[in-house]
Amino acid sequence: MPYQTNDSLWSPEHQIFRQTVRHFLATEVEPNVDQWVEDHEIPRSFWLKAAEAGILGVDIPEAYGGPGGDFLHRLVIAEEIGYSVAGASMAPSLIADGTAEILYRSASEEQRQTYLPPMIRGEMLFGLAITEPDSGSDVSAIRTTARRDGDDYVISGSKTYISQASIADAFMVVARTGEEPGSKGLSMIIVEADRPGFKRGRALKKMGVNASNTGEISFDEVRVPVANLLGAEGRGMALCLGGVNMDRITWPLIAHAASQRAFEETVEFVKNRKAFGQTIFDFQNTQFKLAEIKTELAVGRAYLDEIIRDYQANGKLDTLKCAMAKMWLPEMEARIMDTCVQLHGGAGYMDEYPISRLYTAARLHRIFAGTAEIMRVIVARSL
Ligand SMILES: Cc1cc2nc3c(=O)[nH]c(=O)nc-3n(C[C@H](O)[C@H](O)[C@H](O)COP(=O)(O)OP(=O)(O)OC[C@H]3O[C@@H](n4cnc5c(N)ncnc54)[C@H](O)[C@@H]3O)c2cc1C
Repeated sequence: MPYQTNDSLWSPEHQIFRQTVRHFLATEVEPNVDQWVEDHEIPRSFWLKAAEAGILGVDIPEAYGGPGGDFLHRLVIAEEIGYSVAGASMAPSLIADGTAEILYRSASEEQRQTYLPPMIRGEMLFGLAITEPDSGSDVSAIRTTARRDGDDYVISGSKTYISQASIADAFMVVARTGEEPGSKGLSMIIVEADRPGFKRGRALKKMGVNASNTGEISFDEVRVPVANLLGAEGRGMALCLGGVNMDRITWPLIAHAASQRAFEETVEFVKNRKAFGQTIFDFQNTQFKLAEIKTELAVGRAYLDEIIRDYQANGKLDTLKCAMAKMWLPEMEARIMDTCVQLHGGAGYMDEYPISRLYTAARLHRIFAGTAEIMRVIVARSL
């Protein structure tokens, strides 16, 4: 059964696009994802096919090679990836396509013309390199430096937990260009992976989302032209923050759609599995748990719909509401996934059952794109 989204939210154009995304996931991702999970990597050919299907850089204007969609098209992709079991193994990679949005928002006209068309054709893959061994939630602790030397920056430092680390052709790197303490001295600079001194480190083994490559990169006096700076010096943090509301609605939508999928998989499973002469579904405990899940899903969806409707009305995402969604929906997802695994019994722990992959993917959603605790810090500021 496809994801039952709220049809009144989406225009006919978005609904047609949804069919394209569904078809793409069914034909290009589902048959191949097990191999990618084994390889810990998605092959280059995938990106070329995603480009052909028109789902890369979907909200980038046609002047830069984009399909000319809008942010709501990205949300449609998020719902469909979230609902797809195959999508659960790769979501951070496909969502890394959000690097096109950062570039469009931050780049000069010349940079847009240089980088966006090959990105959107799937020929040039970008990673976003913010996190370091000693700096994650606290971006102001970033130590990677970009020292100005004539017309170049000389970059030194290391980054970890970077999606696409083993495969990206270039990275948007947040580094310290100024002496100012905290986040004031941070800038965002494009570093191409073929520059001398750039190194890819280990591909990291993870508990889930294993088709999505995650790893380390380092910079040993890597020289890049000053023209690779995005925006202005000292604007690195602002450029990171410019897209956070988009992330903070995208990941809650993924969390909701994945929870809906887990619920449906579980209803089907418990209606077929028998114990003590009846189906697992026949136990009142099972029905009560499923009734609770159905209710949480409806409540969570109503809140997401409210945020999306606000956006449709005002063209803006509300920072507080997005932070509350990013805090609550992945925690709702965690409760639902845990119950669904439990209702599967031992099968729930076996990777061959969809619920197992949905469960390990869900664990990421409280950490990635701003942890649940950082969301609490943001919400608490409004008190
Ligand atoms: C699969 C995966 C892919 C990733 N991809 C990328 C990527 O492409 N690019 C990139 O730059 N990064 C990436 N990351 C990194 C991710 O953004 C960070 O892991 C995340 O920001 C948390 O940082 P941290 O791991 O350093 O945890 P920490 O910041 O060390 O946090 C540890 C714990 O302390 C809590 N904590 C921290 N500060 C506070 C506070 N003020 N109050 C209360 N509690 C607090 C946190 O919530 C958390 O529970 C990825 C991570 C994963 C797991």
